[in-house]
Amino acid sequence: MTRKIAVLAGDGIGPEIVAEAIKVLSFLNTDMNLDLVFENALIGGAAYDAFGTPLPQQTLNLCKNADAVLLGAVGGPKWEPLAHAVRPERGLLGIRSELGLFSNLRPAILYPQLVDASTLKPEVVSGLDLMIVRELTGGIYFGQPRGTRIMENGERQAFNTKIYSESEIRRIAHSAFKIAQKRNKKLCSVDKANVLEVTELWREVMTEVGKEYPDVQLSHMYVDNAAMQLVRAPKQFDVMVTTNMFGDILSDTAAMLTGSIGMLPSASLDANAKGMYEPIHGSAPDIAGKGIANPLATILSVAMMLRYTFNEAAAADRIEQAVNSALDAKVRTADIYSEGMIKVSTSEMGDAVVNALKGA
Ligand code: NAD
Repeated sequence: MTRKIAVLAGDGIGPEIVAEAIKVLSFLNTDMNLDLVFENALIGGAAYDAFGTPLPQQTLNLCKNADAVLLGAVGGPKWEPLAHAVRPERGLLGIRSELGLFSNLRPAILYPQLVDASTLKPEVVSGLDLMIVRELTGGIYFGQPRGTRIMENGERQAFNTKIYSESEIRRIAHSAFKIAQKRNKKLCSVDKANVLEVTELWREVMTEVGKEYPDVQLSHMYVDNAAMQLVRAPKQFDVMVTTNMFGDILSDTAAMLTGSIGMLPSASLDANAKGMYEPIHGSAPDIAGKGIANPLATILSVAMMLRYTFNEAAAADRIEQAVNSALDAKVRTADIYSEGMIKVSTSEMGDAVVNALKGA
């Protein structure tokens, strides 16, 4: 059965890093008969320049008809003066909501070869491999009512609503438990159930859903403690699941434990594990076109795609091991370079991963 991947390279370094991910995926496609087909479309500033909108209908149609979406990055100074409705970032928000991508997976992996890139002590972070599952389409970022008003005494007041229905919690719970099953079978649900009714319900539903996954060990933690534990002893966690806003904050904290933004992939999934896969970094306009961007976050994003959408764990493992081998061979793009290493370009890093795949 043919599997279709919509490829949206986007802006800035997007086309450079996506080309390397496709290079890696194309090699495996042939080597393992994965039956993948790729189709390109424009998004973000590039789409605005061509069609006057960051998310053209044909791009959206392609994504809806595809089994997975690979995205580079969008945005750049050229489009900053545009009205909000047509800014490149709108293209991303549009796809997320149109495809119902409610489950955001943000792994934080620290490769032992890059342990010095972290601001934390090596013994605290070395070997770190955790996954944060963030609810992406509900909670306080979307809850109604929201707004600002003038109170009777003339003072300005602003308000948002943190609201979750049982079904919204249930679906992110299933998503997180399934991910935990594919990893070390440990799930920590993060809430503020001692203060907020909405997360009291979160905790109740997580516990109920947990009964359907007896092989996964579920624990609960308050968000303030979780933030503290993430920088104190992050290796205690395997998979964490949390609300939209808590996840926004905790996933950035976790990402920075690793210290290298060019290494971190992400996935956003719907209820059927269809997903959009992208590096967590942006379009890096400061280095675009120079051939020096690190493509590993995007290459690792396609490994996630193989694991979570296509259930090709062996292929995903091979990519992750090949990245490890490339790092062992001391090749480094400029952002992760240190003395004694071999500085390589974006495409040379892609080649190094393919060569490692050939040897594996
Ligand atoms: P950024 O992530 O693009 O860059 C931050 C810094 O990290 C820069 O110095 C950049 O050179 C470096 N960097 C990022 N990715 C790298 C890589 N793969 N290899 C080497 N170095 C890398 O964040 P920013 O500068 O705040 O934003 C730039 C543009 O990207 C803005 O228009 C922003 O809106 C957009 N953005 C897009 C996304 C997305 O598409 N998902 C996410 C964040 C920001």
